[in-house]
Amino acid sequence: MDELSLYESILGLQEPWAVEHVELSKDGVVHVYTEHDRDAETLCPECGCACPRYDTRDKSWRHLDTCQFQTIVHGAVPRAKCPEHGVLQVNVPWAERNSRFTLLFEAMAIQWLKEASINAVSRRLGLSWNATDGIMRRAVARGLSARESVDYQHIAVDEVSSKKGHKYITIVSNESGQVVDVQDDRSKSSLAAFYTSLSERELDSIQTVSMDMSPAYLSATKEHVDGWEQKICFDKFHVAMDLNKAVDSVRKGEMRFAPADQRRPLHLSRFNWLRSEGKLKSHHWDTINSLSKVAKKTARAWAIRQYAMQLWNYSTRGWAQRAWARWYGWAARSRLTPIKTVAASIKKNLWGIINAIVHRKSNAGAESINSRIKLLKVRARGFRNKERFKTAILFQLGGLCLIPAHLN
Ligand SMILES: [Zn+2]
Repeated sequence: MDELSLYESILGLQEPWAVEHVELSKDGVVHVYTEHDRDAETLCPECGCACPRYDTRDKSWRHLDTCQFQTIVHGAVPRAKCPEHGVLQVNVPWAERNSRFTLLFEAMAIQWLKEASINAVSRRLGLSWNATDGIMRRAVARGLSARESVDYQHIAVDEVSSKKGHKYITIVSNESGQVVDVQDDRSKSSLAAFYTSLSERELDSIQTVSMDMSPAYLSATKEHVDGWEQKICFDKFHVAMDLNKAVDSVRKGEMRFAPADQRRPLHLSRFNWLRSEGKLKSHHWDTINSLSKVAKKTARAWAIRQYAMQLWNYSTRGWAQRAWARWYGWAARSRLTPIKTVAASIKKNLWGIINAIVHRKSNAGAESINSRIKLLKVRARGFRNKERFKTAILFQLGGLCLIPAHLN
């Protein structure tokens, strides 16, 4: 095999493309020059019809290294003159339009981006930050356009902050742990934008939507999902968080009136009261038991929270409803304002909590997605803007096919 045929098979070139010559430059770069058969038809990239050749333009693409040498593919690429679409550059088989890299190079960069930050990949491959970001964006766009059927049966909606404590985005995920959509902000219109992007069939396929009890996601779902009364599930972890805030606020209030020598232990005990039952070790119980004598209100608030968490174990609607009604009676008589406030919200939203209990749905999967998103933020040392953050989430967690199908 001569070197021209060797490079033709390495690049997978077929008629009308061929390698014309190969050279190694003094600075150690392999240049592969390709050409398009002058007599072959030029095809319009839009409609695929054979059109007259208008002219040719010299282009180049970074390819995978040849042994230790950086390798550049050059091509005199014809432009076709289509009667309908005008003058357009024909597609080359080794690269996507508007990319300065071959598909094989992009595929290799994508594999690395799965493992490391944009900065690290840029450094290792000798690319600018923007070039690497472009590979990532093209991969996500390719993945989204190749996406065929997505499982929307049981979805969870949650918010994550894109910058510390400020801007938010809305994440929609499915039961397989894929992020199926990312939208700006955490408003009603954020989630409405997701629903309106679905076809009627996809919208009908939704069986449950797990979320927190805040009004934004609730009202978007009421407006767009038929049968929402049976489908909206208020997430256990978010209800627990609301109750935790109430317990903490009771503890803070009580600390102000506690005997001087008990204030510090009560201050230090904060996380003991907020632990879920399964994570309470014996020394946490010891602290809770000894402080219960001085911090009676905190202990009462805590017991009410503990009881609420056990009510998620029911499986029938009737039993669950009766148990929550008993719980509500206790919480309402607790004389603890923060607890009474959460209890009122739980009473109002009890139907959605009961849905979550009988359907056995929660944001547990979404929570693990959230922690993976936090890791992405740490790895990238923050994102310069929301669009880049959204791209990174879909790239890493969207379950998309990022590499062109024929290279898989
Ligand atoms: Zn055309």
